[in-house]
Amino acid sequence: MLVPRIKIGHLWYDMVYTDKEIVDGTSVLVGQCDSSKLTITIWTGRKESAMNCTILHEILHAIGFERDLDLTERQVNQLACGLSTFICDNPEVITCLSSAHGKSSGHSDG
Ligand SMILES: [Zn+2]
Repeated sequence: MLVPRIKIGHLWYDMVYTDKEIVDGTSVLVGQCDSSKLTITIWTGRKESAMNCTILHEILHAIGFERDLDLTERQVNQLACGLSTFICDNPEVITCLSSAHGKSSGHSDG
């Protein structure tokens, strides 16, 4: 399922899906996060699993911008791969986390 928009922190990003190449200067990209326009563009010319990995990658860029993390491309790549396999291997954790959202005890995460 291709979601039309996602919320990162307090900002909504529009998801743009395109079958055209995403060109940034001399680079051809499979995804792009624009934190000023609040858009995430995804090239649809790949398998769904690869596209989902790209979506996660761009979401991590957006979180990095929102949280002022100054993540490198390598860090974003490694986090995307790690999270992607974690989510696939533990889908029940995502359900548990989303149902617990808003029921915060006020404790800090360790
Ligand atoms: Zn990237």
